[in-house]
Amino acid sequence: MRRGKAEAMKDMEDRVEKLVIIGSGPAGLTAAIYGCRADLDPLVFMGTKYGGQLMLTSEVENYPGFPDPVLGPDLIARMKSQAERLGARLVQEDVVRVNFKTYPFEVFTDSGVTRALGVILAMGANPRRLNLPSEMRLMGKGVSNCAVCDGFFFRGKRVAVVGGGDSAMEEANFLSKFASQVQVIHRRDELKASAALRKEAFANPKISFVWDSVVTDVIGDTKVQGVQVKNLRTEKKSELPVDGLFVAIGHDPNTEMLGGQVELDPKGYVVIRNGTESSIPGVFVAGDVHDFRYRQAITAAADGCRALLDAEKFIKQKLELKVAS
Ligand code: NAP
Repeated sequence: MRRGKAEAMKDMEDRVEKLVIIGSGPAGLTAAIYGCRADLDPLVFMGTKYGGQLMLTSEVENYPGFPDPVLGPDLIARMKSQAERLGARLVQEDVVRVNFKTYPFEVFTDSGVTRALGVILAMGANPRRLNLPSEMRLMGKGVSNCAVCDGFFFRGKRVAVVGGGDSAMEEANFLSKFASQVQVIHRRDELKASAALRKEAFANPKISFVWDSVVTDVIGDTKVQGVQVKNLRTEKKSELPVDGLFVAIGHDPNTEMLGGQVELDPKGYVVIRNGTESSIPGVFVAGDVHDFRYRQAITAAADGCRALLDAEKFIKQKLELKVAS
Protein backbone atom coordinates (compact mmCIF):
# COMPACT_ATOMS: atom_id res chain seq x y z
CA MET A 1 0.00 0.00 0.00
CA ARG A 2 1.26 3.48 -0.87
CA ARG A 3 2.06 5.49 2.19
CA GLY A 4 0.40 8.89 2.51
CA LYS A 5 2.24 12.20 2.34
CA ALA A 6 1.41 12.87 5.99
CA GLU A 7 3.17 9.64 7.08
CA ALA A 8 6.21 10.44 4.98
CA MET A 9 6.36 13.91 6.55
CA LYS A 10 6.03 12.37 10.03
CA ASP A 11 8.95 9.98 9.32
CA MET A 12 11.02 12.93 8.20
CA GLU A 13 10.20 14.81 11.38
CA ASP A 14 10.98 11.80 13.62
CA ARG A 15 14.36 11.19 12.01
CA VAL A 16 17.21 13.17 13.53
CA GLU A 17 20.05 14.01 11.16
CA LYS A 18 23.55 14.08 12.56
CA LEU A 19 24.51 17.09 10.46
CA VAL A 20 22.66 19.57 8.28
CA ILE A 21 24.70 21.94 6.12
CA ILE A 22 22.99 25.05 4.73
CA GLY A 23 24.64 26.33 1.56
CA SER A 24 26.50 24.86 -1.40
CA GLY A 25 29.36 27.17 -2.28
CA PRO A 26 32.94 26.02 -1.58
CA ALA A 27 32.33 26.31 2.19
CA GLY A 28 29.21 24.11 2.30
CA LEU A 29 30.49 21.53 -0.19
CA THR A 30 33.86 21.20 1.54
CA ALA A 31 32.06 20.71 4.86
CA ALA A 32 29.97 18.01 3.11
CA ILE A 33 33.09 16.23 1.75
CA TYR A 34 34.74 16.18 5.16
CA GLY A 35 31.41 15.34 6.82
CA CYS A 36 31.05 12.16 4.75
CA ARG A 37 34.55 11.08 5.65
CA ALA A 38 33.78 11.73 9.34
CA ASP A 39 30.77 9.40 9.02
CA LEU A 40 28.28 12.18 9.74
CA ASP A 41 26.08 11.37 6.71
CA PRO A 42 25.52 15.07 5.96
CA LEU A 43 22.30 16.43 4.51
CA VAL A 44 23.02 19.57 2.48
CA PHE A 45 20.33 22.12 1.68
CA MET A 46 21.95 23.62 -1.39
CA GLY A 47 19.40 26.33 -2.09
CA THR A 48 17.36 26.49 -5.28
CA LYS A 49 20.10 28.59 -6.90
CA TYR A 50 22.95 26.43 -5.68
CA GLY A 51 26.69 27.02 -5.93
CA GLY A 52 27.02 30.61 -4.70
CA GLN A 53 29.18 33.28 -6.26
CA LEU A 54 31.35 30.88 -8.30
CA MET A 55 28.30 30.24 -10.47
CA LEU A 56 28.69 33.81 -11.75
CA THR A 57 32.45 33.61 -12.20
CA SER A 58 34.10 32.81 -15.51
CA GLU A 59 37.70 31.60 -15.40
CA VAL A 60 39.24 30.73 -12.05
CA GLU A 61 43.03 30.70 -12.15
CA ASN A 62 43.92 30.85 -8.48
CA TYR A 63 42.32 27.68 -7.09
CA PRO A 64 45.17 25.26 -6.33
CA GLY A 65 45.16 21.98 -8.23
CA PHE A 66 44.02 23.44 -11.55
CA PRO A 67 47.04 24.27 -13.71
CA ASP A 68 44.67 25.35 -16.48
CA PRO A 69 41.86 27.84 -15.78
CA VAL A 70 38.59 26.27 -14.62
CA LEU A 71 35.18 27.91 -15.05
CA GLY A 72 33.48 28.80 -11.75
CA PRO A 73 30.40 26.60 -12.42
CA ASP A 74 32.70 23.69 -13.42
CA LEU A 75 34.61 24.03 -10.16
CA ILE A 76 31.32 23.86 -8.23
CA ALA A 77 30.17 20.86 -10.34
CA ARG A 78 33.40 19.03 -9.44
CA MET A 79 33.01 19.78 -5.72
CA LYS A 80 29.38 18.65 -5.92
CA SER A 81 30.26 15.34 -7.63
CA GLN A 82 33.02 14.73 -5.10
CA ALA A 83 30.57 15.25 -2.21
CA GLU A 84 27.98 13.03 -3.91
CA ARG A 85 30.48 10.25 -4.62
CA LEU A 86 31.36 10.21 -0.91
CA GLY A 87 27.66 9.91 -0.01
CA ALA A 88 26.47 13.44 0.80
CA ARG A 89 22.76 13.97 0.26
CA LEU A 90 22.36 17.19 -1.70
CA VAL A 91 18.90 18.74 -1.81
CA GLN A 92 18.14 21.67 -4.10
CA GLU A 93 15.85 23.50 -1.69
CA ASP A 94 15.95 26.81 0.16
CA VAL A 95 15.94 26.87 3.94
CA VAL A 96 13.19 29.33 4.83
CA ARG A 97 13.61 29.41 8.59
CA VAL A 98 15.35 27.70 11.51
CA ASN A 99 14.53 27.02 15.12
CA PHE A 100 17.69 26.88 17.19
CA LYS A 101 15.74 27.41 20.45
CA THR A 102 14.95 23.72 20.55
CA TYR A 103 17.26 20.68 20.46
CA PRO A 104 17.70 18.79 18.19
CA PHE A 105 17.66 21.90 16.02
CA GLU A 106 14.91 22.38 13.45
CA VAL A 107 15.55 23.46 9.87
CA PHE A 108 12.54 24.32 7.69
CA THR A 109 12.18 24.16 3.92
CA ASP A 110 9.00 24.34 1.86
CA SER A 111 8.77 20.53 2.06
CA GLY A 112 8.89 20.27 5.83
CA VAL A 113 11.11 20.28 8.89
CA THR A 114 14.41 18.46 9.41
CA ARG A 115 15.84 17.89 12.87
CA ALA A 116 19.60 17.86 13.38
CA LEU A 117 22.20 17.40 16.11
CA GLY A 118 24.50 19.92 14.45
CA VAL A 119 24.18 22.60 11.79
CA ILE A 120 26.77 24.35 9.65
CA LEU A 121 25.76 27.75 8.28
CA ALA A 122 27.41 28.34 4.89
CA MET A 123 24.86 30.51 3.09
CA GLY A 124 27.41 33.00 1.75
CA ALA A 125 26.86 36.63 0.85
CA ASN A 126 25.61 38.30 -2.27
CA PRO A 127 27.59 41.12 -3.82
CA ARG A 128 25.41 44.21 -4.17
CA ARG A 129 24.57 44.98 -7.77
CA LEU A 130 23.99 48.19 -9.66
CA ASN A 131 20.84 46.49 -10.95
CA LEU A 132 21.50 47.31 -14.59
CA PRO A 133 20.48 44.71 -17.20
CA SER A 134 23.80 45.31 -19.02
CA GLU A 135 25.73 44.63 -15.79
CA MET A 136 24.25 41.12 -15.50
CA ARG A 137 24.59 40.43 -19.24
CA LEU A 138 28.31 41.25 -19.15
CA MET A 139 29.02 39.60 -15.77
CA GLY A 140 32.18 37.51 -16.25
CA LYS A 141 32.74 39.26 -19.60
CA GLY A 142 34.41 42.32 -18.18
CA VAL A 143 32.07 43.00 -15.26
CA SER A 144 33.34 41.51 -11.99
CA ASN A 145 32.85 41.69 -8.24
CA CYS A 146 36.32 40.44 -7.36
CA ALA A 147 39.61 42.08 -8.32
CA VAL A 148 41.69 39.35 -6.67
CA CYS A 149 39.90 36.78 -8.86
CA ASP A 150 39.83 38.67 -12.16
CA GLY A 151 42.37 41.52 -11.99
CA PHE A 152 45.01 39.41 -13.69
CA PHE A 153 42.96 39.39 -16.92
CA PHE A 154 43.22 43.18 -17.21
CA ARG A 155 46.96 43.55 -17.63
CA GLY A 156 47.66 46.76 -19.55
CA LYS A 157 43.93 47.56 -19.82
CA ARG A 158 41.69 50.36 -18.50
CA VAL A 159 39.28 49.55 -15.72
CA ALA A 160 36.67 51.33 -13.60
CA VAL A 161 35.75 50.55 -9.99
CA VAL A 162 32.39 51.59 -8.52
CA GLY A 163 32.19 52.40 -4.80
CA GLY A 164 33.84 54.53 -2.16
CA GLY A 165 34.31 52.07 0.73
CA ASP A 166 37.22 49.90 1.90
CA SER A 167 36.46 47.22 -0.71
CA ALA A 168 36.49 49.69 -3.58
CA MET A 169 39.83 51.16 -2.47
CA GLU A 170 41.34 47.71 -1.97
CA GLU A 171 40.12 46.66 -5.41
CA ALA A 172 41.46 49.85 -7.02
CA ASN A 173 44.85 49.50 -5.36
CA PHE A 174 45.05 45.82 -6.32
CA LEU A 175 43.96 46.47 -9.92
CA SER A 176 46.59 49.18 -10.36
CA LYS A 177 49.23 46.42 -10.37
CA PHE A 178 47.85 45.13 -13.66
CA ALA A 179 45.73 47.80 -15.32
CA SER A 180 47.13 50.80 -17.17
CA GLN A 181 44.50 53.08 -15.61
CA VAL A 182 41.95 52.70 -12.78
CA GLN A 183 39.04 55.14 -12.52
CA VAL A 184 37.03 55.04 -9.30
CA ILE A 185 33.43 56.12 -9.83
CA HIS A 186 31.80 57.22 -6.58
CA ARG A 187 28.34 58.66 -5.98
CA ARG A 188 29.56 61.27 -3.49
CA ASP A 189 32.53 63.62 -3.34
CA GLU A 190 34.17 61.97 -0.35
CA LEU A 191 35.18 58.40 0.36
CA LYS A 192 33.77 56.20 3.06
CA ALA A 193 36.97 54.10 3.12
CA SER A 194 39.38 54.12 6.08
CA ALA A 195 42.11 56.77 6.15
CA ALA A 196 44.89 54.31 5.35
CA LEU A 197 43.20 52.90 2.25
CA ARG A 198 42.17 56.38 1.10
CA LYS A 199 45.72 57.62 1.43
CA GLU A 200 47.09 54.69 -0.53
CA ALA A 201 44.59 55.25 -3.35
CA PHE A 202 45.14 59.02 -3.53
CA ALA A 203 48.91 58.50 -3.71
CA ASN A 204 48.65 55.95 -6.54
CA PRO A 205 49.40 57.65 -9.88
CA LYS A 206 47.35 55.08 -11.82
CA ILE A 207 44.16 55.78 -9.82
CA SER A 208 41.86 58.71 -10.61
CA PHE A 209 38.39 59.59 -9.29
CA VAL A 210 35.09 60.38 -10.96
CA TRP A 211 33.14 62.06 -8.14
CA ASP A 212 29.40 62.52 -7.60
CA SER A 213 28.69 60.03 -10.34
CA VAL A 214 26.87 56.77 -10.95
CA VAL A 215 27.11 54.18 -13.71
CA THR A 216 23.89 54.19 -15.74
CA ASP A 217 24.87 51.60 -18.37
CA VAL A 218 27.63 49.18 -19.28
CA ILE A 219 28.49 49.40 -22.97
CA GLY A 220 29.41 46.35 -25.07
CA ASP A 221 27.73 43.37 -26.73
CA THR A 222 29.92 40.41 -25.81
CA LYS A 223 32.53 42.21 -23.70
CA VAL A 224 32.80 45.48 -21.83
CA GLN A 225 33.85 48.41 -24.02
CA GLY A 226 32.92 51.27 -21.75
CA VAL A 227 30.53 52.63 -19.16
CA GLN A 228 27.98 55.42 -19.30
CA VAL A 229 28.28 57.67 -16.26
CA LYS A 230 25.90 60.31 -14.93
CA ASN A 231 27.09 63.19 -12.79
CA LEU A 232 24.50 63.56 -10.02
CA ARG A 233 25.13 67.28 -9.54
CA THR A 234 25.00 68.36 -13.20
CA GLU A 235 22.84 65.46 -14.53
CA LYS A 236 25.35 65.36 -17.42
CA LYS A 237 25.98 61.94 -18.98
CA SER A 238 29.32 60.89 -20.44
CA GLU A 239 31.05 57.72 -21.63
CA LEU A 240 34.26 56.32 -20.21
CA PRO A 241 36.03 53.85 -22.48
CA VAL A 242 37.09 50.96 -20.21
CA ASP A 243 37.69 47.22 -20.67
CA GLY A 244 36.53 46.18 -17.21
CA LEU A 245 34.09 47.27 -14.53
CA PHE A 246 34.55 46.19 -10.93
CA VAL A 247 31.46 46.71 -8.79
CA ALA A 248 32.58 47.05 -5.16
CA ILE A 249 29.57 48.53 -3.38
CA GLY A 250 29.36 45.99 -0.57
CA HIS A 251 27.91 42.55 0.09
CA ASP A 252 24.75 41.36 1.82
CA PRO A 253 25.18 38.20 3.89
CA ASN A 254 22.35 35.68 3.50
CA THR A 255 21.33 35.66 7.14
CA GLU A 256 17.73 36.83 7.00
CA MET A 257 16.30 33.35 7.40
CA LEU A 258 18.09 32.98 10.76
CA GLY A 259 15.40 35.27 12.17
CA GLY A 260 17.78 36.88 14.65
CA GLN A 261 18.40 33.61 16.54
CA VAL A 262 22.17 33.73 16.00
CA GLU A 263 24.29 36.73 16.96
CA LEU A 264 24.99 38.93 13.93
CA ASP A 265 27.22 41.99 13.60
CA PRO A 266 25.64 45.34 12.69
CA LYS A 267 26.06 44.54 8.97
CA GLY A 268 24.27 41.19 9.30
CA TYR A 269 27.32 38.86 9.22
CA VAL A 270 27.33 35.95 11.68
CA VAL A 271 29.64 36.59 14.62
CA ILE A 272 32.06 33.72 15.27
CA ARG A 273 34.12 32.82 18.31
CA ASN A 274 36.51 30.06 19.31
CA GLY A 275 37.16 28.79 15.81
CA THR A 276 33.90 28.47 13.88
CA GLU A 277 31.31 28.54 16.67
CA SER A 278 28.26 30.78 16.43
CA SER A 279 26.48 32.13 19.51
CA ILE A 280 24.48 28.85 19.64
CA PRO A 281 26.46 25.75 20.72
CA GLY A 282 26.14 23.16 17.94
CA VAL A 283 25.68 25.73 15.16
CA PHE A 284 28.91 26.36 13.27
CA VAL A 285 29.76 28.87 10.56
CA ALA A 286 31.81 28.78 7.36
CA GLY A 287 32.62 31.11 4.48
CA ASP A 288 31.35 34.51 3.41
CA VAL A 289 28.32 34.39 5.72
CA HIS A 290 30.76 35.52 8.43
CA ASP A 291 33.88 36.46 6.47
CA PHE A 292 33.78 39.89 4.84
CA ARG A 293 37.53 40.14 4.77
CA TYR A 294 39.00 37.39 2.61
CA ARG A 295 36.02 36.23 0.49
CA GLN A 296 37.94 33.77 -1.67
CA ALA A 297 36.81 30.35 -2.86
CA ILE A 298 39.86 28.80 -1.23
CA THR A 299 39.34 30.56 2.13
CA ALA A 300 35.66 29.57 2.11
CA ALA A 301 36.62 25.96 1.35
CA ALA A 302 39.19 25.97 4.16
CA ASP A 303 36.55 27.41 6.47
CA GLY A 304 34.16 24.58 5.53
CA CYS A 305 36.80 22.11 6.67
CA ARG A 306 37.34 23.96 9.95
CA ALA A 307 33.60 24.19 10.67
CA LEU A 308 33.21 20.47 10.01
CA LEU A 309 36.06 19.54 12.36
CA ASP A 310 34.45 21.66 15.09
CA ALA A 311 30.97 20.26 14.36
CA GLU A 312 32.29 16.68 14.34
CA LYS A 313 33.61 17.04 17.89
CA PHE A 314 30.28 18.47 19.09
CA ILE A 315 28.08 15.89 17.33
CA LYS A 316 30.20 12.91 18.39
CA GLN A 317 29.93 14.05 22.01
CA LYS A 318 26.14 14.20 21.66
CA LEU A 319 26.08 10.71 20.09
CA GLU A 320 28.26 9.29 22.88
CA LEU A 321 25.93 10.82 25.50
CA LYS A 322 22.96 9.23 23.71
CA VAL A 323 24.63 5.78 23.72
CA ALA A 324 25.57 6.12 27.39
CA SER A 325 22.05 7.08 28.52
P1 NAP B 1 30.64 49.49 2.39
O1 NAP B 1 31.52 49.93 3.49
O2 NAP B 1 29.19 49.30 2.67
O3 NAP B 1 30.81 50.56 1.21
C1 NAP B 1 30.03 50.51 0.05
C2 NAP B 1 30.37 51.69 -0.84
O4 NAP B 1 29.61 51.56 -2.03
C3 NAP B 1 30.04 53.04 -0.24
O5 NAP B 1 31.00 53.99 -0.61
C4 NAP B 1 28.67 53.37 -0.86
O6 NAP B 1 28.46 54.74 -1.07
C5 NAP B 1 28.78 52.71 -2.22
N1 NAP B 1 27.48 52.24 -2.70
C6 NAP B 1 26.57 51.45 -2.04
N2 NAP B 1 25.51 51.19 -2.83
C7 NAP B 1 25.74 51.83 -4.00
C8 NAP B 1 25.02 51.93 -5.23
N3 NAP B 1 23.86 51.32 -5.40
N4 NAP B 1 25.57 52.65 -6.24
C9 NAP B 1 26.77 53.27 -6.09
N5 NAP B 1 27.50 53.19 -4.94
C10 NAP B 1 26.99 52.49 -3.93
O7 NAP B 1 31.11 48.11 1.75
P2 NAP B 1 32.60 47.51 1.63
O8 NAP B 1 33.55 48.54 1.15
O9 NAP B 1 32.46 46.24 0.87
O10 NAP B 1 32.98 47.14 3.13
C11 NAP B 1 32.15 46.27 3.91
C12 NAP B 1 32.79 46.05 5.28
O11 NAP B 1 34.00 45.30 5.14
C13 NAP B 1 33.18 47.37 5.95
O12 NAP B 1 32.96 47.24 7.33
C14 NAP B 1 34.63 47.49 5.65
O13 NAP B 1 35.33 48.28 6.60
C15 NAP B 1 35.07 46.03 5.67
N6 NAP B 1 36.25 45.83 4.81
C16 NAP B 1 37.46 46.00 5.39
C17 NAP B 1 38.60 45.86 4.60
C18 NAP B 1 39.94 46.06 5.24
O14 NAP B 1 39.97 46.37 6.42
N7 NAP B 1 41.03 45.89 4.55
C19 NAP B 1 38.50 45.57 3.25
C20 NAP B 1 37.24 45.41 2.68
C21 NAP B 1 36.11 45.57 3.49
P3 NAP B 1 28.32 55.78 0.16
O15 NAP B 1 29.74 56.04 0.62
O16 NAP B 1 27.68 56.96 -0.46
O17 NAP B 1 27.49 55.10 1.20
